[in-house]
Amino acid sequence: MNIALIAHDRKKELMVELTLAYKLILEPHALFATGTTGKRIMEATGLSVHRFQSGPLGGDQQIGSRISENKMDLIIFLRDPLTAQPHEPDVTALIRLCDVYEIPLATNIGTAEVLLRGLQEGFLDWRDLRRNEE
Ligand code: PGA
Repeated sequence: MNIALIAHDRKKELMVELTLAYKLILEPHALFATGTTGKRIMEATGLSVHRFQSGPLGGDQQIGSRISENKMDLIIFLRDPLTAQPHEPDVTALIRLCDVYEIPLATNIGTAEVLLRGLQEGFLDWRDLRRNEE
């Protein structure tokens, strides 16, 4: 599975804790992240993460582009609902594309844990069939 991980600044520590706790579940998968989030995850966990641009510099859009190409299977986007983001349109667009392409998306830690446990149980295996379909 191709998994994208994004965390706004005030959620980055939480993302580090999440990826540490679920490291064994995440390890077999291809991990992608926006720039700073990816750096933090790699430093803390040793997981290998492909890093896109930082979110405000286009990273969300790069991940959105992969979604539109049916190349992302799960998005964990720990967004900060209490802080205005300079790239709010990109955030909205990314969430919209997940709905357009029916890609599982968690925007908070509660849902993220459910999805990661579901991933381990094989509940997302349908994505193996859908990925790269025309
Ligand atoms: P960052 O981007 O991981 O580069 O900080 C995340 C975001 O703010 O969208």
